[in-house]
Amino acid sequence: MELSTDSERLADVSDVATRLAEAEAEYGVKAVRAAASLIEKGNPGECYECGRHYARLVGGLCGFCRDGRIPP
Ligand SMILES: [Zn+2]
Repeated sequence: MELSTDSERLADVSDVATRLAEAEAEYGVKAVRAAASLIEKGNPGECYECGRHYARLVGGLCGFCRDGRIPP
């Protein structure tokens, strides 16, 4: 089994984000949150997007980046 490179992983993450954005337009935020939690349980670590450390990342992204918001 080959490990994905970082860029492949980022492509996967953005693909998921695109699909989640489409789901959000169709079903609303609650459905998106439910879908996101099914895809991956949260893990602590640095967000791929903003580089900040969070106790819970989903798909490598913090809640702000997942929602398309700027972290405070
Ligand atoms: Zn982030």
